[in-house]
Amino acid sequence: MAVVPATMKAVVIRRHGGLEVLNLEDVPLPTPGSGEVRIRVRACALNNMDIWARSGPPGGRPVFPWRERPFPITTGGDVAGVVEAVGPGVDGWHPGDRVVINPILSCGVCEYCLAGEQTMCLRYHIFGEHTPGGLAEYTVAPARNLLRVPDSVPFEKAAVPAAYCTAWRMLVTAGGLRAGEDVLVVGASGGVGTAALLIAKMAGARRIIAVVGGAEKAGKAAALGAVPIDHREHAAWSERVLEITDGAGVHVAADPVGAPTWVQTIRSLRRGGRMTICGASGGERPDFDIREVYQRHRRIIGAPMGNVGDLRAVMGAIFSGAIDPVLHAVLPLAQIREAHRMMERREHFGKVVLTP
Ligand SMILES: [Zn+2]
Repeated sequence: MAVVPATMKAVVIRRHGGLEVLNLEDVPLPTPGSGEVRIRVRACALNNMDIWARSGPPGGRPVFPWRERPFPITTGGDVAGVVEAVGPGVDGWHPGDRVVINPILSCGVCEYCLAGEQTMCLRYHIFGEHTPGGLAEYTVAPARNLLRVPDSVPFEKAAVPAAYCTAWRMLVTAGGLRAGEDVLVVGASGGVGTAALLIAKMAGARRIIAVVGGAEKAGKAAALGAVPIDHREHAAWSERVLEITDGAGVHVAADPVGAPTWVQTIRSLRRGGRMTICGASGGERPDFDIREVYQRHRRIIGAPMGNVGDLRAVMGAIFSGAIDPVLHAVLPLAQIREAHRMMERREHFGKVVLTP
C-alpha cells in the first residue's frame, strides 16, 4: 500500500483574472465522507466552465446552473483515476478500481430525477464546478457517481464525460438522429463538436458537415470523415450547407456556439429539421427571424448535458472502442496555464487534458 501524504498539489484560483491566477499549491488532502471515495486523479479534461470559473462568467452575466463558489476554488469536472480510499458506507468500490466520475450531481428524489432526467433536477449541480474538482492530485466524489473504466481504456480517453454526454444528448436523445440522415455540427473543433462528429458517424449519419475556423481544423475534421466548411473562407456558410445537401438542408444540427452562429444554423436545417443547443460560448442573444423557424416546421431543442442514461450510453461506446475521443493535448498539471491559454485562444481541436 502506497504511503499517502497529508498534502497534495492542486490548481488553486484565489480570484478572477488572467492565466496568472492559476497556481499549483500545496493543500490538505481531502478526506472522503460517508458514501464518498478519494480518487488519485490520473486525468482531468478542461471545459469552458473551468475557463469561466477563472475569468468570470461569459459576458459578466451568470446563467443557470451557474453558481460561483467563494474563492479559493479548485475546478475540474471531467475526472478519471484510481480509487485510493473509501469512506464509511461505501459498497462495491475498492482501492485500485479504475473509475471515471459522472459529473452530474442531483437530488435523486425530485420528479425529474425520478423520471431519469438528472440534469433537469431542481437541485442540479456539476461536480468540479459547484464542488471542489479534479485539477489536483486527489479528489473526493460520491461513490454513486462512479463508473468503472476498463483496463483497455487510457485515463486520458475516459476523462471526457461532460462533452461526450452533451454531444450524445444533442444528436441521439434530443436530436433523434437516425441512420442515413444528414448532420451539421457547428463549432466542430471544440470538445462537444469533435464528440458530435464521432457520435454522428457511429450513428450512421449520411453526410456530416463540420463548421470550423481555419484550414488546419478543416483538415482534422475531414480526417474524421466530415465534410468541413471553413467559416473564415465562407462567411455565409449556410449556403455551403445547402449546396452539400443538394439544396435540402440537414436533418439535425448541433450548435454549441450561440449568437454568432444561430441564424446560419437555422437556415441550414431542412423543413422539419431539428437544431439542438447546449451552450452560448460565443454569445447568448441571437438576432433572428422566428418565421424562419415556424414556417418551415423547424425545432430548436435545449440539450445542456444529458442524463445518466445518456452518459452511460456514450461512455459505453468509448469503453468498447466504438468511439475514440479526440484529444488535442495531454499536458502535466503543472502546465495548467498553457492548457487554459489553448482553450481561451481556441487553438484546440478536441479535448485538452491535464495529468497530475
Ligand atoms: Zn432531483
